[in-house]
Amino acid sequence: MNPPARDAFIAALTKIVGPTHVITDPSMRASYETDWTGRFSGQALAVVRPKNTAQVAAVVSLCGEHGVPLVPQGGNTGLVGGAVPSEGSIVLSTTRLNNVGTVDEVAAQVAVGAGATLAAVQAAVRPRGLDVGVDLASRDSATIGGLIATNAGGERVLRYGSMRRQVVGLEAVLADGTVMKHMTGLTKDNTGYDLVRLFAGSEGTLAIITTVLLQLVPLPAKRTVALIGLADVATAQSVLTGLRLRLPQLTAAELFFDAGLELVREHAGLSAPMPDRHPVYLLVEAADVSDPTDALLFQLEKDVRIRDAVLANDTKGVAALWDYREGHTEAVSALGTPIKLDVAVPAAALPAFIAALPLIIEKVAPEAQMFMWGHLAESNLHVNLVNVNGDADRLTDAVLDIVIRSGGSISAEHGVGRAKAAWLERARSAPELAAMRSIKVALDPRGIFNPGVLFPE
Ligand SMILES: Cc1cc2nc3c(=O)[nH]c(=O)nc-3n(C[C@H](O)[C@H](O)[C@H](O)COP(=O)(O)OP(=O)(O)OC[C@H]3O[C@@H](n4cnc5c(N)ncnc54)[C@H](O)[C@@H]3O)c2cc1C
Repeated sequence: MNPPARDAFIAALTKIVGPTHVITDPSMRASYETDWTGRFSGQALAVVRPKNTAQVAAVVSLCGEHGVPLVPQGGNTGLVGGAVPSEGSIVLSTTRLNNVGTVDEVAAQVAVGAGATLAAVQAAVRPRGLDVGVDLASRDSATIGGLIATNAGGERVLRYGSMRRQVVGLEAVLADGTVMKHMTGLTKDNTGYDLVRLFAGSEGTLAIITTVLLQLVPLPAKRTVALIGLADVATAQSVLTGLRLRLPQLTAAELFFDAGLELVREHAGLSAPMPDRHPVYLLVEAADVSDPTDALLFQLEKDVRIRDAVLANDTKGVAALWDYREGHTEAVSALGTPIKLDVAVPAAALPAFIAALPLIIEKVAPEAQMFMWGHLAESNLHVNLVNVNGDADRLTDAVLDIVIRSGGSISAEHGVGRAKAAWLERARSAPELAAMRSIKVALDPRGIFNPGVLFPE
């Protein structure tokens, strides 16, 4: 865009949202232009912060008229570079769309602005004995819009499913500036295509989500967490299988390893959770209206494969045990910019996959250090590689290749973003890709939403 055209465009944006909400100053744009990991960055023409749906619609229409691409951004905690501006785009920040509506206790639903953070929604609904089914460590910054756009998973998928399952209604601004709304909140409604959930996992490529109607879950009054030391991954899987069969209160099952635990302890200054170190750790949480401690203890005590376990059922103790797991992302990032590969493989293939990884990585990048953790119930592993130097693409290729050959997914919960767009073709079949492209073209014929994300440019 030439300078006079750009100035006219910025002036028109300013007219819509007001001068303080069009950010063109490079130093003020900076935090919107680089992702959480520091791996992905771009330069935006401007960052725009609309305060309501009408302003979003006007911004989208204006961008359509000028052919300016739009990158929706919520909390910017995404891990695949999906909210980073592409060349000549504007970042549309949803953080001012942060209204949290009145909780409908009968339907157990709440309407929230797409820019409301998960933590803000949790704070609003928990006093009513309700909760959001999805929870994750980025809760203080991650927004409901971002969580849906990435179909985020997190720590409780085994009990409540991922974000797609929490959404019963939605309002979104389409590429021509029209507002599409389906907010009836009916959990039974078979009148044609499921347009609401189509946006779950769309990564900002189909529309800008502005309001969301969430189906809430009962807030369990009592939580008990156990951190279990084990010999290997296959044993962790087998212990979890028993717990899933016999402990309906089971809410979370997180896997991590000795190297990761030591890194987290060093980074956060935490003491050792148990006297001896173990190769593999399984953190499980049970939650219910009445105290699930006895039920969990009963299952663990009789399992001779458990080398050691610590248990907590008070708020402080539960949080302290979760810190060992939730501290991983931050501790790894403190070592340098990581390559983050969020993958899933079929449960039967998981132990062999984990065993094969160090050899594959050493072959491509002998200097690289690997840390892994994940959500065991979904066989979802976060493979984090640091000290990668110039080998990022080759390493990604090597790891994703074995994932695909194992029958797995190259993105279990973080999305495809820019990081994995080049690999999408290998992950989905030709008819699937054709159907996905048809949807994209139908809803965004001029390709103004998030170019380069999901589909390679
Ligand atoms: C410490 C840490 C822990 C994490 N743990 C997990 C985890 O356990 N599970 C998990 O799944 N993820 C996890 N994440 C990743 C991240 O928090 C999620 O992907 C989250 O859903 C991103 O929300 P956000 O608001 O920050 O979105 P952003 O990062 O701002 O955007 C993410 C994507 O959504 C699009 N988008 C955002 N808002 C909208 C909107 N209103 N309309 C349309 N598109 C939109 C963007 O264009 C982009 O493609 C973690 C991240 C961190 C930093």
